Amino acid sequence: KQKERLQKVIAKSGITSRRKAEGLIESGRVKVNGKVVTELGTKVGQGDEVAVDDIIVEKEQPVYFMVNKPRQVLSTVEDDKGRKVVTDLLPDEIEQRVYPVGRLDYDTTGILILTNDGNLTNKLIHPKFEVDKVYVAKVNGELSREEALQLKKGVIHDGERLKAVKTRIIEVDKKKKKTMIEMVLHQGKNRQVRRMFEALGYRVDKLKRERFGTLALGNLQPGQYRELTPHEVKQLA
Ligand code: URA
Repeated sequence: KQKERLQKVIAKSGITSRRKAEGLIESGRVKVNGKVVTELGTKVGQGDEVAVDDIIVEKEQPVYFMVNKPRQVLSTVEDDKGRKVVTDLLPDEIEQRVYPVGRLDYDTTGILILTNDGNLTNKLIHPKFEVDKVYVAKVNGELSREEALQLKKGVIHDGERLKAVKTRIIEVDKKKKKTMIEMVLHQGKNRQVRRMFEALGYRVDKLKRERFGTLALGNLQPGQYRELTPHEVKQLA
């Protein structure tokens, strides 16, 4: 693993901000491997022991956020074409490097969890844990009850069997020929909702994820983020 600046390592541990960590270093309160270091540019790595006031600084603090991903934002941490990515929605003061839990398509909106907690991430994305992912899709055409049922029984797309756990038609607009439908998934296959409707000959015009496991989007607006409460983190795991 790469070496990082001392003030960043201190800030990531959650004890203080990077700016204040710089003050601590300059005032001689920080030791690396038992020796006082006052140079701000000092880099430290995995094997180095960092202490503030002789108390050893623990490694990176786990952090948990939810964002409401807007359309035209990638759910990755960087893009070589310079498009906006989900971590751009978090303020710069967050020192920890976080990753999205699963993916939402470029044009899908809604709840996405960002964390540096790899164990929780694995748990939430593995299908065996059967985490509910609740979507609302706006589909072109008038979907029948039979077709909604078919989504639950399963459809085949590109040789893969895709199914919903629950489906609920919210509204059929006969004039505009559109259907709003809620879908609960446990699987998390690539573009799953869009592909399921493709398999039935429909196109998804709008897709939003409203719930992920125990977490609901609530009134978080597109582009906004918030930190999860300790209680929410406990419920998720
Ligand atoms: N299903 C999709 O088709 N797209 C998403 O972003 C999420 C689920």
